[in-house]
Amino acid sequence: PNPGGKLHVLIASFPAYGHIIPLYELAKKVGKHHRVTFAVSAPKLSDLVKREIVNASDPVTLFGIEDGLVDDFDNPTDPGVMARVFQTVLPAFAQLMTVIPVRNGNISTVSGIATPVDIVITDNFLGGPAAISHQRGIPFYSFCTANATMLQIMLMLNEDSPTVEEADAEPFVKLPEPGEAPRPVPEAMKKLFLPMRTGLKFARGIIINSLRELDQEAIRAIDENGELKALTFHFVGPLLPEEKGANSEAQLATEGKVGKWLDAQAVNSVVYVSFGSVATPKPEQVTIIGDVLLALGQPFIWALREKHHQHLPAAIQAGITKQFDGSNDSKFLILDWAPQKLVLAHAAVSVFVSHCGWNSSLEALGSGKPVVAWPMFADQLENGKWLERLGAAVLIPDTGLKSAKVVSVEELNEAVVKVGGWKGGEVSVYGKAAQTWVDKISGAWAPGGSSEKEFLDLIRFQAKE
Ligand code: UDP
Repeated sequence: PNPGGKLHVLIASFPAYGHIIPLYELAKKVGKHHRVTFAVSAPKLSDLVKREIVNASDPVTLFGIEDGLVDDFDNPTDPGVMARVFQTVLPAFAQLMTVIPVRNGNISTVSGIATPVDIVITDNFLGGPAAISHQRGIPFYSFCTANATMLQIMLMLNEDSPTVEEADAEPFVKLPEPGEAPRPVPEAMKKLFLPMRTGLKFARGIIINSLRELDQEAIRAIDENGELKALTFHFVGPLLPEEKGANSEAQLATEGKVGKWLDAQAVNSVVYVSFGSVATPKPEQVTIIGDVLLALGQPFIWALREKHHQHLPAAIQAGITKQFDGSNDSKFLILDWAPQKLVLAHAAVSVFVSHCGWNSSLEALGSGKPVVAWPMFADQLENGKWLERLGAAVLIPDTGLKSAKVVSVEELNEAVVKVGGWKGGEVSVYGKAAQTWVDKISGAWAPGGSSEKEFLDLIRFQAKE
């Protein structure tokens, strides 16, 4: 459509970090080939700059959507907050799609978006708004932040799907077991996913933050769904966040110290514990995890936000103040925010106790590190089960946020020892399974790698014959 070859691509993100970060990574990559406008809630913009997710040198133009979003929803486990977000965000995006300028069309100018838009990419939460761009003749692509299993689950919903009260809903989004009836979902979730499904029917392609090889099973299951058979998938993962704040001096200093500490540890000895950017285990679990780590005697790094330190065993609390005193003889590090990619990539690290967020799951396999899976909500359980199926994890049962179960010292200890493999004196079977994925995942974006190839194909933005 554009003789110059460069297209104007509008990328619209749902305003949660789990969506913004991978979509913005994609935007930067597309921006090397086309003109890119990145649309996100205006109230989020200053925070994106502050967190150094967005940098002035990026080949991306930011567009703030005045959606009236109150930026208080970084706790997605609160269903009321999520429902409010959808009420404000979806209409604002629908409005945007109605007024963006199109080529050869009735050009209505949106202040800030002067050039006609050739292609729209939205994350799949915004399927309804994206369908509007389609109606106006602008092809759109849907972006899936999670893996194909999640897409499969969302696409299983239909008008007749049973619902439950929010309070009674399971913390996890789950695939039904074979032969099992569809799982009831909260009304708000149904309202969200149904338009998404409608939107997908019109999508020219689905861009997934995963690798085709990792997702074969789920893709086959989606393909069995006749209606969506014609969908084209573009696997461009992993679109991993740059180290957050890595440009700041404080963060660099921490990284330097963590790196030095890791260098001083024996190969394959360190336990790394992190539950991601949102979740934290219950207070009594924080204490138990601490007790297990101390009793194991292995060195460990634990990413635990400061407000939870009060629940740590006293011996750990006492050690926190001297962990960076220069002598490097501390057996452990407690960090408010860990340089996770650096940690996982280090040869000293042998086990990752993880909540199985999708990014963490990809990072674990990409670094060849086996996982003790402790999922808490949303897609984390499916991710944990998936890591277990790959042979790269031991999954602790019943760890969901709403569960009354307390994981015991014995149970956690057994899982960590199994995955760590220290007793056998070499990498465990779980570690070996994880290592088989390193080249595929870390090589996906290397020149000629699978995701680079699929990406270069995608950005030709040609309709399938
Ligand atoms: N992360 C990090 N340091 C921390 C905790 C998390 O660098 O102390 C990063 C981690 O590497 C991953 C992201 O934050 O890239 C968390 O994403 P994930 O999908 O695993 O979980 P979420 O935070 O969305 O629950």
